[in-house]
Amino acid sequence: MAKNIYFFGSGKGEADASMRNLLGGKGANLAEMTNLGVPVPAGFTISTEMCLDYYKNGRKLSDELLAEIKENIVKTEKAMGMKFNDAENPLLFSVRSGARVSMPGMMDTVLNLGLNDTTIKGLVAKSGNERFAYDSYRRFINMYGDVVMDVHHEYFEEKITAMKKARGVENDTDLSAADLKELVEQYKVVVKEHAGKAFPDDGFEQLKMAVAAVFSSWEVPRAVKYRKMNNIDDSWGTAVNVQAMVFGNMGETSGTGVAFTRNPSTGENLFYGEFLMNAQGEDVVAGIRTPQEISELEKIMPVCYKQLVDIYKKLEKHYKDMQDMEFTIQEGVLYMLQTRSGKRTAAAAVRCAVEMFKEGLIDKETALNRVAPTQLDMLLHPNISPNAKLTVIAKGLPASPGAAVGKCSFTAEDAEERKAKGEQVILVRQETSPEDIGGMDAAEGILTARGGMTSHAAVVARGMGKPCVAGCAAIDINEKAQTVTIAGKKYGPNDFITLNGTTGEVVAGKVELTTPTLSGDFGVLMGWTDEFRTLNIRTNADTPHDAKVARDFGAEGIGLCRTEHMFFEGDRIKAVREMILSEDLEGRKAALAKLLPIQKGDFKGIFEVMDGLAVTIRLLDPPLHEFVPHTPEAQADMAKEMGISAEAVKTRVDQLHEFNPMLGHRGCRLGITYPEIYDMQVEAIITAAVEVAKAGKKVIPEIMIPLVGMLPEFKILKANAVKIADEIIAKANIKLDYKVGTMIEIPRATLIADQIAEHAEFFSFGTNDLTQMTLGFSRDDAGVFLPEYVERQILPDDPFQSIDQEGVGMLVQYGVERGRKTNPTLKIGVCGEHGGDPKSIEFFHNAGLSYVSCSPFRVPIARLAAAQAAIKSKKKTKIDVNVGLLKSKQSVKA
Ligand code: PEP
Ligand code: MG
Repeated sequence: MAKNIYFFGSGKGEADASMRNLLGGKGANLAEMTNLGVPVPAGFTISTEMCLDYYKNGRKLSDELLAEIKENIVKTEKAMGMKFNDAENPLLFSVRSGARVSMPGMMDTVLNLGLNDTTIKGLVAKSGNERFAYDSYRRFINMYGDVVMDVHHEYFEEKITAMKKARGVENDTDLSAADLKELVEQYKVVVKEHAGKAFPDDGFEQLKMAVAAVFSSWEVPRAVKYRKMNNIDDSWGTAVNVQAMVFGNMGETSGTGVAFTRNPSTGENLFYGEFLMNAQGEDVVAGIRTPQEISELEKIMPVCYKQLVDIYKKLEKHYKDMQDMEFTIQEGVLYMLQTRSGKRTAAAAVRCAVEMFKEGLIDKETALNRVAPTQLDMLLHPNISPNAKLTVIAKGLPASPGAAVGKCSFTAEDAEERKAKGEQVILVRQETSPEDIGGMDAAEGILTARGGMTSHAAVVARGMGKPCVAGCAAIDINEKAQTVTIAGKKYGPNDFITLNGTTGEVVAGKVELTTPTLSGDFGVLMGWTDEFRTLNIRTNADTPHDAKVARDFGAEGIGLCRTEHMFFEGDRIKAVREMILSEDLEGRKAALAKLLPIQKGDFKGIFEVMDGLAVTIRLLDPPLHEFVPHTPEAQADMAKEMGISAEAVKTRVDQLHEFNPMLGHRGCRLGITYPEIYDMQVEAIITAAVEVAKAGKKVIPEIMIPLVGMLPEFKILKANAVKIADEIIAKANIKLDYKVGTMIEIPRATLIADQIAEHAEFFSFGTNDLTQMTLGFSRDDAGVFLPEYVERQILPDDPFQSIDQEGVGMLVQYGVERGRKTNPTLKIGVCGEHGGDPKSIEFFHNAGLSYVSCSPFRVPIARLAAAQAAIKSKKKTKIDVNVGLLKSKQSVKA
């Protein structure tokens, strides 16, 4: 018989941490903890394969599985010295989901399973606490009714609210055992009424239905949405963990908590967490009562605290990573319910990685792999400017660092709608629940009135890298009226607030934010990337300011300077328009003469900043009509400027009209038909280079010709450029090396790359255009249908964000192979958007490119992604070599 269930809890378990795919993260770690001798309540894990089976069988549990469940109940009974369905010493279960990667709060959980009118007697007798027992019973019916039998939580809430009112009390805890007993009966009636059948009395029946419900919860919309957002495979399924209940709510020597081996917000190496005495686990996470800091536990229960400290140290050392643990103390006895790798902010990820290396816990490769490149985005994005004048109106918990500015939004749907319209909003909620996930994703930041550092809002915000202030009791939310009152003032949907998730402060209005630098641990980690990566990282920058930002982030050159971006600055556009609107060569030359010194100035600024590093400058690329005046006012303005009639301007604009400008008169086609434009640009580049070089800086100019598709295009334009450049250099009487290369962005260019490489001194793949032209998707219009393509998995990703590996990627690979065939040392880069996308960077690394170029703020992301790609391929080569050895050994044997 196949093994579908794995027991854990006493002695060496049947599984271990390596079995995460089969048992889910939670199950694998419960098994591993038992193996380590950590006290864990006994139980068993039903494998993820059974989840897939469940769906295959039309949402039914097979008889074979049910039999195996029964066997494992017996094993658990033995390990705990208790009995399921027993009146004297009843064993109760928790039933929880557990996927391969954690999906906090997304799927269902049932606690106290096994309670019925018989077993309750045992619980009363054993605990000697009738109130506690009936409280557990009524919670169980509520939770089970909600999760398994689809009876809305509100119906139960109505009953308990009515009961409190009748007794004249405010809190649940003020209700007596007799009240709760009465509630149990009322809850059963609620179930019968709304589910159309009685609450199941038999424990095994309860368990069967609960396991099925947890499997079913894999498919609930919020879980599906979460998987989509986090790139989790729908086909994995979830495991189910059935575990003996231990109680944190058995009185004052019981409690429950959540702890991290290091601070998940900052990464500081300090035991961190919170707990509630006399409470059940869900109470801590749900944010209903505000918990106490973990260090307080030392005063309340010193023995348990010491044991907990020993365990956390053991677990971190064993897993060599920061752990997120759940524990329960039942009448003075500590049990660990869960351990898993802790979710952390980007800052914490970096600090943990660097410090764990320094502590000798992990090697550098592991440290680099501990930080997700996209996570760095958070460290590269705004914080509150130190100079900003702040009106702090409230203070909550610093649940997820960074700063966010936005208008108040009071529901998740509203946040999503407004984000879609381009608004920046802050989601303001009493507390968040898994249903709010879409709104949290849409918001710039999250503010909650209730809940602790491990509340849903805090955990999810940290995972998303969003600033969050949680448990801010000073705010008073009126969801209906869409207002929040803070410090006596009402804020509505049109009012801005600013959150500082690093300090927990809520600030009135829109505050100025700043961008940080590569300092401290971040700088150290970035330094390590350079020891591993083989790809160079350049930047796409058009101004000295951007070039400086990128250089400070570690850019090793400019891979793309788009000259046309400079054309729109200030009054320059007038000269550009004059050039375009001129009827003849003379007119164009006169206008270009005005542009020459301006362009020269721009290039000088960039060369100065990039002293010692290569600067690739692309000659004019976009269609001319992008620059011409389209409105009658602008046309009249230009007519005045040029001393011609408005009519003449309009005629020329009409002449320049193109139906499909992206496939029209642009790129090197302009250089062929109006050579004087490129001549001016080459003159500006080389004279700027000469002047900066004469001033003592090292200038490495690279002139790049866009949109080449045919060899003669490149040959003609290169010859023109070389002639002008050499003349200037000769006249200046200095030695200045420069290169002339091409973009490869027309599919045809990849096919004849061998020919082009015989003449070009470098290639740079323009993967934006190459994607547009290979897929036949207009870059500017594909937004209409692309989301549906990705949603329906017609394409795995948006091909303008992550390279379409099997299509466009193959052209890149082919272009590299062909190019290097005729020019083996050819330097080849990528300067399309994909140069900053980690997945694409791995592809480019494997394709043998020399560098990628991306926007300044993505330079650190690209450095890390390139290092990770190199580490991965090095490991792969090692494995390949081993396999090779193995094979050769085998063949020797054979
Ligand atoms: C490209 O096409 O990839 C590119 C970098 O150029 P642009 O985006 O300016 O067309
Ligand atoms: Mg392009």
